[in-house]
Parts: sequence; C-alpha cells; structure tokens
Amino acid sequence: MNPHEKTKDELIEELEELYQKHEALKKSYENTITKNIQAEEVLRENQELFRKALDLGVVGMATTHPYTFYFLSANKRLCEMVGYTEEELLQKTWAEITFPKEKVDEDSANVLKLLRGELNGYVMEKQYQHKDGHMIDITLSVQGVTKKDGSIDYILILADDITQRKLAEKALREASEYSRKLIETSLDALVTISAEGKITDVNAATEKITGLSREMLIGSDFSDYFTEPDKARSGYLKVFEDGQVIDYPLAVRHASGKVADVLYNASVYRNEQGEVIGVFAAARDITQRKQTERELIIAKEKAEESERLKSAFLANMSHEIRTPMNGILGFAELLKEPNLSGDEQQEYIKIIEKSGARMLNIINNIVDFSKIEAGLMNVALKDTNINEIIEFVYTFFKPQAEEKRMQLFIRNSLPIEATTIRTDREKIYSILTNLVKNAIKYSNEGVIEVGCTKKGNYLEFSVKDSGIGIPKERLEAIFERFIQADITDVEARQGAGLGLSISKAYVEMLGGKIWVESELAKGSSFYFSIPYNIEKGEENIDQKVVPRDSEKYLMKNLKILIADDDEISNKLVSLTVKDYCKEIIETKNGVEAVKICQQNPDLDLVLMDIQMPDMNGHEATRHIREFNNKVTIIAQTAFGLSGDREKAINAGCNDYITKPINRSELNTIIQKHINNHSAID
Ligand code: ADP
Repeated sequence: MNPHEKTKDELIEELEELYQKHEALKKSYENTITKNIQAEEVLRENQELFRKALDLGVVGMATTHPYTFYFLSANKRLCEMVGYTEEELLQKTWAEITFPKEKVDEDSANVLKLLRGELNGYVMEKQYQHKDGHMIDITLSVQGVTKKDGSIDYILILADDITQRKLAEKALREASEYSRKLIETSLDALVTISAEGKITDVNAATEKITGLSREMLIGSDFSDYFTEPDKARSGYLKVFEDGQVIDYPLAVRHASGKVADVLYNASVYRNEQGEVIGVFAAARDITQRKQTERELIIAKEKAEESERLKSAFLANMSHEIRTPMNGILGFAELLKEPNLSGDEQQEYIKIIEKSGARMLNIINNIVDFSKIEAGLMNVALKDTNINEIIEFVYTFFKPQAEEKRMQLFIRNSLPIEATTIRTDREKIYSILTNLVKNAIKYSNEGVIEVGCTKKGNYLEFSVKDSGIGIPKERLEAIFERFIQADITDVEARQGAGLGLSISKAYVEMLGGKIWVESELAKGSSFYFSIPYNIEKGEENIDQKVVPRDSEKYLMKNLKILIADDDEISNKLVSLTVKDYCKEIIETKNGVEAVKICQQNPDLDLVLMDIQMPDMNGHEATRHIREFNNKVTIIAQTAFGLSGDREKAINAGCNDYITKPINRSELNTIIQKHINNHSAID
C-alpha cells in the first residue's frame, strides 16, 4: 500500500508514536544533561573539599610535574614550611629549593624509577631552603599518580618538617658525647656493673688503675680487681639494699701487682619501668692522699720531736756552756787569792784550761753542725795516711784513757803499702776523735780498741769499748742531732748530743756508712766504712797531722805585726810568739796595719784579724800586697765558716787560723810559712 494511502488515523497513530519517542528522547537527553551538570558539581565540590583537606593537613603536600619538576600545587602547610606563597612556589621546581645538591641527584634518580615503573614510591630525607635562606630538614614521601593508561600523570609529595627532631637528636648526640667526654676525663674510675656483677662499661681511669684494656674489663666480674673480692662483693650487695654506698674503702690491684687504695661510691640504676638493672660505681684513687697523710703525720711527729729535742738541746747546751764557764770564771777568781801555793795555782790553771778546752769543743761542734745543716761543709780529698791518723788519735787520747785507768789499743791490720788513700783527712780525724772521746767518756773501766781493716773496696774502722752501753731502742736515734742515748742520763755526762750526728754526716759525705753494736753495761762497738780510694789526685804531698804538743821551732828573731782590735786576743798572740820575735808591733785597725807595713818593709809576718774597724783584714791584706809580696800574712777569724780560708787566700793571705788561737797550731803554721819563705837565719 502506498504510504500516501495511509489513513488519517494511521497517520495520527504514527505521529503520536513519533511524538512519544521524541518526548522519551528529549527526557533522556534532559536527564543526561542534568546528570552531567550534577557530576561536574560533585567534582567541583570534591576538589574544593580535597583542597580544604590538603590545606588543613599538618604535613606539607604538593603535586609536581613528573618531567619538569615544577610544583603544580602546594598546600598551606608546605607554603608555610618554605615561606613561599603557592603562586610563588608554582614558579619553581622542587630541585631549586632542594639541598644538599647530592639529594637533587638522588631524588631525580628516584623520580626516574617511578616513571619507569621500577618504584611505586619512596621515602627520603633531605633539606628544603626556606625563602629567607635557612634550611629545613624534611622527610619526603613520594608517590606517582597514574592516568588511566597507567602512565604517570603527576607526582604527589608529602613533606614532614623534621628540623626540630633533628635539632633534638643533635643536642642529644652532643649531650651524650659531652657526658662521655666528662666520663672519660674523670680521674675517678667509673664503671657500670650489671645486676649479675659483670662489668658493662668502664672509662679511661678504670683502665689506668687496673692496667687492663676496656675490652678485657668489660664482661668480667668486677670483684676480680680488688685485693679483697669478698669485701668488694658485700659493698656491691649493700648498694642493692640501701640504694647506694658512700666512701666504702677498698684496694684495687693493678696488673703490675701495685695496689691502689680507693674509696668506692655506688648507686643503682634503673630502666624506664623503674626496675634495677645494675650499679653505677665510682672508685676514687686515694693512694696519694693516704701517702701525703702518712707523710704529714710523720712530718708532724718529726716537728714535735724536733721541738722537744730543741728544748732538750737548749737546756743541755745551757748546762754545757755554764759548767765550763763556771770553771773558768770561778777558778780565775780563786787565782786572785794572795796566799796560794804554787801547786794550787797550777791546779787552778789546769782546771781553767780544761774548762776552756771543753767549751771550745762544744763551740766547734756547734759550728761544724751549723755548716753541715747549712750545706756549707765541703769535702776536701787529699792523699791521706790512715796509719798516721790512727797513731795520732792514739797518742792524743792515751793520757786521757790512762787518767780513767783504762787501756787504749790499736788493732790495725792495714799493710804499710795500703795505708795511703784519697779521702778527707780532717773528717776522718774528726770522726775517729769523736768515737774515741765517747768511748772514754762513756766507760768507767776496761779496754778501748781502735782498729782499721780493709774489706773489699772499703776501709772499715772500729772503736770498741767496754763501757756503759746503749739501750737497744736508742741505737738508731743516737746518730740523730741533739740526741743523747738517754736525755735524762743518770750519770749526766757532758755532751751536746752533736758528735755522732756530725760523724754520721761526715761518713756519708765520704761515701761510707756508720753503725753501732752495743749491749747495756757490756760496751759498745762503733764502726764506720769509707771507700778505699787510691787514685792519685793533684795534690800528692800528704801534710802530716802534727800532734799539738810537738813544738819544734826553727824560727827566731822575727819582726811581727799583730793587727787585732781585741785587746785580749792581741795579748795572747803576742805572748805566744814572743819567744821567737825580736820585735812585735801591735795595731787595732786595718788602715794602720797597712801604714805600718809601708813603714816597715823588713816585717817577717803579719797576723791579720779579719774583723776590724775602719778597714777589714781582707782589704788591708789586698793593700799590703800592692807593695809587699814577701811578707807572710796569716789571717785569723772567729767564725770558722767554710769559705773563710778561700776568702783569706784570695785576698792575698798565705794561710788562715781560727780563733781561739791554739798556740801549737799557730806555731806550726808560722813555722811552715816562714820556713817556706826562708826568712829565718
Ligand atoms: P754527746 O756525747 O755530746 O752527748 P754524741 O752525739 O757523741 O753526743 O753521742 C750521742 C749519745 O750517744 C750520747 O749522749 C751517749 O748517750 C751515746 N753514746 C755515744 N757513744 C757512746 C759509747 N761509746 N757508749 C755509750 N753510749 C754512747
């Protein structure tokens, strides 16, 4: 049928059908549009929400371009972190603000791996530079955001600011380095000990006090290093009971065997839960302190002893000086009595002489002692004939021994050819004299034997008596200054307690030793040794020790000037030399002495006192030597200090003598020089 042949109804029906289809289409189209609009809205809303969420985040977030590295977006937190606005940031690449530069390389290598699909994401630490220049430490978490086709669309980064954490970590690290340094520089041994008693950590001082390395100490039992391990362990247990111990005394043994006294201080240490996990211990080395304390106590005792000795010495000295003074002055007074017999006069004079000698002995001892104490005593080595010294001592003391009804013997085993050695003659003489004098003094009967024998490289002298002996407990002390074996000596024998200390000092100066063996009421044997030194020195002529009473004068008719401001000394010297003088001139001062020498070129001898008013003896001698080299000048001084001789010789004197002047000594000296000068006829 021809379409045009369709009925109207059919057409209407068809039209209606079309119309409905159209309506349906229109509806569906309208629906689609509405849906699209709604979808866009949802998307927009979602994006805004997402943005808000991003901006609320406490972590910095951004998206960046996978190839150009430009920031595509950044949240508020990231902008705050780096100090840029988002607009400013979008003008930058992340590489521009990344530090250090190696991190840029590391980061871009990672991005490359994301692009290649080798990584899904990564985390790294690096630094961003803030707009104002300072650095921010960050932890970066990076993820690639992919398109539908799987390729990377953009990169999402999360940046956590860890600057504060880093600073805290650094501070912590520094603090722990600092405390380690403190621990290591501590002079106390610091140790941590586990609850089982094993060492867990030590410092350098612990290595020092034990002599063992850290590696050897750590893991070992702490009590192994103490001299009393049980005591150490109980000290350790006490820490657990009381929480701490304070100044617990122990002794640590060093690997070398040396022991150090320590004070052990300890306290427990706990973990975060408060459980005790070990002990922190510090050991302070107090060896030095203890030593100093001991020395201080000894020094204090010595000082007290010195003080006591000083008082005893002064009391004794006062007695020692007063007694002979009493003799001298008392008997001098008695001598004035008009009706004395010749014998009585002689007896009184003898007493005066004896008292004077005793006094001189004390003064000599004090001077020698002072020289030793002041370090002024020198050793003068000379070739010395030992036999001659022993014989002289024998000759000198024999009468004194006999006076007390005792016998003096020599037991000398030195062969003649071994009798000359190089030593200080005067000192040997002085030591022997002292010992023999004491032997006589501290004996009432029996025999005194003086001996000398060669033992190896030493000569050993001995002086043995059968006298009162010395209590055992005083045997060492008697060699100390001012000591008498018994200060309250029942027999109150004279003595200043200096003789043996001087002898000891002399023996030691000569390189020897002095010692004594003694038994109370049986006797004492004193010994001393000196090196047997036979090397020849410069001066080989052994000047003989001349016994003081051997006066053989070859001199006569001398013309002598005595220069001394002390009248009594002047008189004494005058009387001493008068026998061999044809003329004696006396003067009281140096200036005059020089003048007299000028006016009397034929003077044989000047006895020049050193201490004089106007011009002292040294100066006067120097002036005299300007015009007279021939005259013998002998200096006389009252001090007897070392250096006096040198000073006198340097000034131009030929010799030197100490006051009080001993007649025979003066005669010997004059004889020596006048003979040398051939000034006698
Ligand atoms: P001093 O004899 O002047 O007291 P020393 O130093 O010579 O001083 O002697 C010290 C002390 O040693 C004497 O006081 C005496 O007690 C004792 N002593 C010395 N020698 C003897 C000896 N041979 N026998 C007994 N005691 C002696």
